[in-house]
Amino acid sequence: MNVFADYALVGGGLQNGLVALALRHARPDARVVMIERGATIGGNHTWCFHAGDVEAESAPWIDPLVAHRWDGYDVAFPAHARHLASPYACVTSERLAAAVTLALDTPGSQLLLDSTVIEAAADHVMVRAATGAITRIDATAVIDARGPDAGPRTACGWQKFLGQELVLERPHGLEHPMLMDATVPQLDGFRFLYVLPLAPDRLLVEDTYFSESTYLDVGMLRARIADYVAAHGWVPTQVAREEVGVIPLPWRYELPPLQAPLLAGYGGGWFHPVTGYSFPIAARLATFLAARGPGEVFGPPLEAFAVRHRSQLAFALRLNRMLYHWFAPEDRYHVLERFYRLPEDSIRRFYALETTRMDRARIVIGRPPRGLSLRHMLRGAAT
Ligand SMILES: Cc1cc2nc3c(=O)[nH]c(=O)nc-3n(C[C@H](O)[C@H](O)[C@H](O)COP(=O)(O)OP(=O)(O)OC[C@H]3O[C@@H](n4cnc5c(N)ncnc54)[C@H](O)[C@@H]3O)c2cc1C
Repeated sequence: MNVFADYALVGGGLQNGLVALALRHARPDARVVMIERGATIGGNHTWCFHAGDVEAESAPWIDPLVAHRWDGYDVAFPAHARHLASPYACVTSERLAAAVTLALDTPGSQLLLDSTVIEAAADHVMVRAATGAITRIDATAVIDARGPDAGPRTACGWQKFLGQELVLERPHGLEHPMLMDATVPQLDGFRFLYVLPLAPDRLLVEDTYFSESTYLDVGMLRARIADYVAAHGWVPTQVAREEVGVIPLPWRYELPPLQAPLLAGYGGGWFHPVTGYSFPIAARLATFLAARGPGEVFGPPLEAFAVRHRSQLAFALRLNRMLYHWFAPEDRYHVLERFYRLPEDSIRRFYALETTRMDRARIVIGRPPRGLSLRHMLRGAAT
């Protein structure tokens, strides 16, 4: 069986979910076929982002995805705590799945679930359905976003975490997210607790590590979350949901060439190496692609767009090298503690991968964070 489309979206994760929504908004008649190997789109995530920049660009189609929004957030380190007034928001997989399903429910478009792409070429993809049936989809543009596992091999550290959505016996009293509570014991690298108040009696609590290893003892992290929650006087009555992440944070990354099929999302290098997060970058790429026709994906505008992104990426990779190679694991928090003394706009632009020259100078110049180790620098220079 053959199918014809303007766009074939390989993988129904965050990146292509946003591409589908941006296309539906900018090109309502485009024939879009999305192919996802899983039974649903977007997996099991709560995707957070610093809201200001993303929403200014893409508000009409991002807005329905936002499940929670706050007008600021807090951070806490042993020697420094701060409230930041930058808006923060989160999107859920369920909302993304619902919006994308609706967006693809139009003539000429299709959502193929439980379907695995076995070949992605410049002008077509081959798809194997759960039944074993093979379909060829011819498309003017193929956007391949199969996630971190599909990306090139990298030299990297890891952001790993367990998140628990907890229903509490009594209101917790938090008004803002606690993005990093690094006042906890520093174990297995830079460790912090991340707390999102989702409702007066509901919290998402994540125990997070910037570590050298992928090893994650879920039972131990559950116990650590329980200790943290108890220490704050919160009494959980139910764990409504759990999410686990082990995300590569590279300091060396071979960027794929800009050729068809376009590698998008994490696998194409469209993510933030320091955090492993990609929401603002994925939204920006989706907006960029939707502003052009399916036959106009490649060319000078994409090259200029990629050059801008890749120069930001290069800076972030250098920061990761510094974080992982210049500091002992238990001293890494000093780097983040110093970072959170920067002007608020610099912090916001850092997370959006939109740093200016001045931001970059502020991040690396000046009195170095405590814990800088010559021994680690020399050892790291070899990797
Ligand atoms: C638990 C967790 C929490 C996170 N929280 C945040 C956050 O708060 N903010 C943020 O910005 N980022 C967050 N991230 C990171 C973010 O999820 C990734 O950066 C983002 O999902 C990358 O998008 P993507 O589309 O490239 O890949 P993915 O979202 O991983 O999507 C890839 C999709 O391709 C599908 N696929 C793979 N191979 C095939 C194939 N052969 N055929 C068909 N389909 C295929 C997969 O099933 C998957 O659905 C989190 C990650 C995790 C694991």
